[in-house]
Amino acid sequence: MRSSLLAILAATGTGCAHGLSRPITPADYPRTRPELTRYAETSHYADVRKFLDSLRNLGAPLRFGSIGKTTEGRDIPYIIASRPIVSSLAEAKQLGRPIVYVQGNIHAGEVEGKDALLALLRDLTFANKPNALDSIVLIAVPIYNADGNERFAPQSTNRTEQNGPEMVGTRANAQNLDLNRDYVKAEAPETRASLAMFNAWDPDVFVDLHTTDGSFHGYALTYSPSLSPAAVFGGIYARDSLLPVLRDRMHRNGFEVFDYGNFVSDERAPIADTSVREAWATYDSRPRFGTNYYGIRGRIGILSEAYSHDSLSKRIAVTYAFVNEILSLVAQKGTAIRSLSARADSQPLAWGRSPDSLQMIAIRSELTATPRKLDVIKEDLLKTGDSTLSQPGVPKGERRTGIFKAIRMPVYDRFTSTLDRVPPAAYVISPRDTAVVALLRLHGIRVDRSDSAWTARGDSFAIDSIITSPRPFQGHREVRLRGRWERGLQGLPPKSFIVSTAQARGTLIVYLLEPESDDGVVTWNLFGSELKKGGRYPVTRIFDLSRRGRAPARRSSASSLQEPQE
Ligand SMILES: [Zn+2]
Repeated sequence: MRSSLLAILAATGTGCAHGLSRPITPADYPRTRPELTRYAETSHYADVRKFLDSLRNLGAPLRFGSIGKTTEGRDIPYIIASRPIVSSLAEAKQLGRPIVYVQGNIHAGEVEGKDALLALLRDLTFANKPNALDSIVLIAVPIYNADGNERFAPQSTNRTEQNGPEMVGTRANAQNLDLNRDYVKAEAPETRASLAMFNAWDPDVFVDLHTTDGSFHGYALTYSPSLSPAAVFGGIYARDSLLPVLRDRMHRNGFEVFDYGNFVSDERAPIADTSVREAWATYDSRPRFGTNYYGIRGRIGILSEAYSHDSLSKRIAVTYAFVNEILSLVAQKGTAIRSLSARADSQPLAWGRSPDSLQMIAIRSELTATPRKLDVIKEDLLKTGDSTLSQPGVPKGERRTGIFKAIRMPVYDRFTSTLDRVPPAAYVISPRDTAVVALLRLHGIRVDRSDSAWTARGDSFAIDSIITSPRPFQGHREVRLRGRWERGLQGLPPKSFIVSTAQARGTLIVYLLEPESDDGVVTWNLFGSELKKGGRYPVTRIFDLSRRGRAPARRSSASSLQEPQE
């Protein structure tokens, strides 16, 4: 994957000078489709390509490439912006800068991320004054769900709770998959391409741009850090150190922003206290969602949700401002953020060396039981007494009033762990389970292979019950296992797969492989019909890899990685 990306980079490098015989002026800069249509229309795929071609033809100091192909074979463009320009992770590291990956259009009906990102890229690139591009490396992926983008239909069909534009794409990709539920199972080519980018560039910050479709609140944009309690580095840092600062700065820009959520009177959240009538509650902590996933990779994930009942021009403006402020803040806190990434990577390496350094990993969680009480702004809606449509996206027979009230209520903006597990030295996977191994490798996880049978002290999981979801979701019936770990000598067959947790993505390994995880390989049926009540989970926990005779095994594992049959 990396070599093909480099080939594209080499072929599309920006060495060429612009074709104009006079100096470039702002009149030459490309404009987005919303800018050209008074914010009546959003960009088609061809518009994005044309916009990027214009930047290239003007000799903009950018690198252009494709993260991979969509289901229907469209290239998913990416643009790298930094001053000076870089072409690889090594060059970015040499500059000692944080890398920020900003993605628009994962839900293609939610259009403003795509158009705001293009405009911001242009404006930062051509700015004469110093800006964030002097201190960070920006990777912009403006039209991630390119196939969904092209399924244009009226907003009243594709985005029922949105205030325009009139024609928008669909939420799902061409396989009818929701890409923001695919980050664990990685079934879509788009997800696989983005995981390859994450592995190749290892961004410190991932920003995912969306539009809400819920409550009538009083915020131009709502945001969320990684909500998984396993995101102990980037999740907590973003929540406590970045987002409060961003909120202040956005306020100074004239935009009220707040933690993402919905009023529970609109959408009942899983709040244990049933006496709660009204509250503000966030969404979900599981890594099927991109920004949660990214936190479990030990990095910072930020979800951005422009307010669907605002006009397209306002949604573009607030998304533009929010991303711009994120880039500036990351530029300012670059040293702290890079050292956070380094600490996240080195912690699992210590697990193998010193049992004292072991840290429990949260693999299941629930909404906090101790919400803070805060003011949340709500808009009053008025019943019109008839069935006319007052504004696209507002229910028929109701009208917005523009009357906003701050109401004090419980705010459920975080999750607490309900099940933690101590990482073993390694997980050993049955030689049969090649689909599991292939998935782990997509996540950038190193998997070795033993050449001979061996025995080791460890745990094996006895399956007491298998709970299968009655309803299919994203083409799966999700599975949950109940059972117990039993300690003893484990006999491991030759050709077993070995996943040492002493690697940068140790936390992700635990999350994916623990049988009781709320979003792991068990959830998504990676074991097919292999799991049986009363049987054993085909992944064993091993406490000490050194007894296996590690040095020679390492050499053989290096060659086994090349075996094509894996
Ligand atoms: Zn969305």
